[in-house]
Amino acid sequence: MDYLKGLNPSQQAAVLQIQGPVMIIAGAGSGKTRVITYRVAHLIQKGVDSFNILVLTFTNKAAREMRERIMSVAGTEAKNIWMGTFHSVFAKILRVEADKIGYPSNFTIYDTDDSKSVLRAIIKEMNLDDKLYNQNFVMNRISASKNNLVSWQEYQQNEAIQAEDFSSGRGHIGKIYENYVNRCFRAGAMDFDDLLFKTNELLKTHNDVLYKYQNKFKYLMVDEYQDTNFSQYLIVKKLASINQNICVVGDDAQSIYAFRGANIQNILNFEKDYPDLKVFKLEQNYRSTQNIVNVANSIISNNKEQLKKNVFSEKEHGDKIKVLRAFSDNEEGKITAESIFQDHANKGMKWHDFAILYRTNAQSRSMEEGLRKLNIPYKIYGGLSFYQRKEIKDLIAYFRLTFNPSDEEALKRVINYPKRGIGDTTVDRIIVAAGQHNITPWEAIVNSAQFLDSRTANTVVNFGMMIQSFQVITKTMSAYDSALYIAQHCGLLKDLYEDKSVEGLNRYENIQELLNGIKEFSEREDLEEKGLDVFMQDIALLTNDDKDKNKDADTVSLMTIHSSKGLEFPHVYVVGLEENLFPSQMSLNSRTDLEEERRLFYVAVTRAESKLTISYATSRFKFGTLINCEPSRFLDEIDAQYLELDFTAKKAPTGNPFFDDDRAAWAGGSSKDAFSKPKAPAPATKANIKTTSILAKAHVPSAGYTPSDTSNLQVGMEVEHERFGFGKVLTLDGNKPDIKATIFFKDVGQKQLLLKFAKLRIV
Ligand code: ATP
Ligand code: MG
Repeated sequence: MDYLKGLNPSQQAAVLQIQGPVMIIAGAGSGKTRVITYRVAHLIQKGVDSFNILVLTFTNKAAREMRERIMSVAGTEAKNIWMGTFHSVFAKILRVEADKIGYPSNFTIYDTDDSKSVLRAIIKEMNLDDKLYNQNFVMNRISASKNNLVSWQEYQQNEAIQAEDFSSGRGHIGKIYENYVNRCFRAGAMDFDDLLFKTNELLKTHNDVLYKYQNKFKYLMVDEYQDTNFSQYLIVKKLASINQNICVVGDDAQSIYAFRGANIQNILNFEKDYPDLKVFKLEQNYRSTQNIVNVANSIISNNKEQLKKNVFSEKEHGDKIKVLRAFSDNEEGKITAESIFQDHANKGMKWHDFAILYRTNAQSRSMEEGLRKLNIPYKIYGGLSFYQRKEIKDLIAYFRLTFNPSDEEALKRVINYPKRGIGDTTVDRIIVAAGQHNITPWEAIVNSAQFLDSRTANTVVNFGMMIQSFQVITKTMSAYDSALYIAQHCGLLKDLYEDKSVEGLNRYENIQELLNGIKEFSEREDLEEKGLDVFMQDIALLTNDDKDKNKDADTVSLMTIHSSKGLEFPHVYVVGLEENLFPSQMSLNSRTDLEEERRLFYVAVTRAESKLTISYATSRFKFGTLINCEPSRFLDEIDAQYLELDFTAKKAPTGNPFFDDDRAAWAGGSSKDAFSKPKAPAPATKANIKTTSILAKAHVPSAGYTPSDTSNLQVGMEVEHERFGFGKVLTLDGNKPDIKATIFFKDVGQKQLLLKFAKLRIV
């Protein structure tokens, strides 16, 4: 049992406790994932049948990596373990059991675009205002309901839900939900939330099935438990209820998916659900330097709601955390790239030692620009992935239709692409006919002669026959041969080939790339079933970070903080630390949301092993307009002793020394004023003379501070600013909505603020 040597005593204890319920709630980098990995290896060593182990991870990539590590300890037995995300594991089970809940085993998995398209169609058919019934809003509402296991029937009967919808003028959501569920069912399709919702339904209504999987999965483990939602919680609880061999690990301070229904209660419930629970504490962080761990602790201590825990590191203190300021988003990209370039050159590091993390996908653009200029290879995780490209989705829609002709979204996508003279009106008539006769659009196609003129019906029937010919082909040919046949005969390959533009060429190459991927898949030796239908199931469930075709390449990683969960990199850059961006504007209205943003910041900084750099820009393009930005409040919250401010990038690109100040004044206060009067005396070095005040503790707003409506603000009035404290209005200039107020603040002196941005309370 040599492998146990790689664990500290508490980790060992958790690994050795193989019977009964176990929970580890511990800080970032303390080895939670490592414990799960070793625990599985240990179970196998102890003779537990690897077929009886289920491990649920947050991404399939995490599962793959874990499997490799277990293999190095326990050998090829590790191949038999069920391991993957909740969605992929339960989709696999649903395929086997689908008929029990009335679904075909070849059901389609609708992605977010498909779901939105279905919703748009329903909202249109119901003649509802699509602004009020915004597809994203409606989708979130339905998704949240499913994740809380609220069916459409319960939704319509629940008084509180109905009251909420009616009060916002959206009383029809319940009906949309009902239509959406029926529409998906008719199309033989499940959306992502259904994979969990239907699993719950299956386990609830079929005791024999529940019993079968309770006996199969005698040992369950769940990583990142803090981000499970109610639906996932219940599945785990049901499966574990006989053997009770369940081990969950997580960190409440890293719960960052509440907006998608993740529920911290799942941790608290756990103790109630399993009175025999053994809880293990892990306090040592093995990932990061002391400075990084201290900064992380100092960030999270600002949250009121958290389980108290100690985290310490015995690694070296390490460099202080660098704070960089840029004048624009582009410059932020430039200085980030330069910093990476230098460390790569001077410290002999690899490009894959670096990661740039941001709050929103859109921020990747300026980073990419900076990296490209220095020829630094990089890879973006998430964002528009290969499988979300139009041409790929088109070809895949043909595959989907081949295996599930009821798939309405796939049908709509390709019935007239490439063009074959079936116009929108005809498509509408097919859909309407299907609705009227309660048949699938596919059945309507087959019978189209009954409601279309003979020429159109002929074209439509020909399309149907083409798909039927594909069905025949896939029964006998390999995945690759079938895919190639379909691509050639549906007309798509020809259409793209004829488009000689650069984009056209690109799209053609992408299709080739997809076909290459299928070829590789058909040749895999570790799979028993490798038809095109199996390939389709695989790709429907890939999470964004799994879609990485080039995983071994030496590249800098770019990703949102959400996708960085569980990962680690020697050097991490967290960019865009600005108010309204991070914390995001949407989080500013409630403490709960703000605390979730802070946890996100905690996740970001705890990804770093040896060096952490944080940056912000003082201006940034947003929706095509240049806006000025204030440094994030999160910077203020970090204990300044761990920080090193590097504001050398001072010159604006125009070379105009006033450029920055002018822009700051435009958006509310010159940067010189705003940051020049530190409350606490700062060590007078050139680098931080101007800047310590940003990080010095700001004014603490009075209890109950809420910004007032300032449209009636008058000269002479006394006001309170969230950060600058109390002051008096000296002048008001300009016209609505661009009125500027000059205010003399007691603590920080005179400032000019643009009223629409300033958060003032009239006292
Ligand atoms: P997160 O909360 O970010 O998911 P975690 O608690 O899952 O973190 P791990 O990823 O398991 O932490 O471990 C962090 C790093 O520390 C990994 O590189 C891991 O290999 C290493 N590590 C953990 N425990 C030990 C140990 N006892 N000895 C040496 N290295 C360790
Ligand atoms: Mg982990």
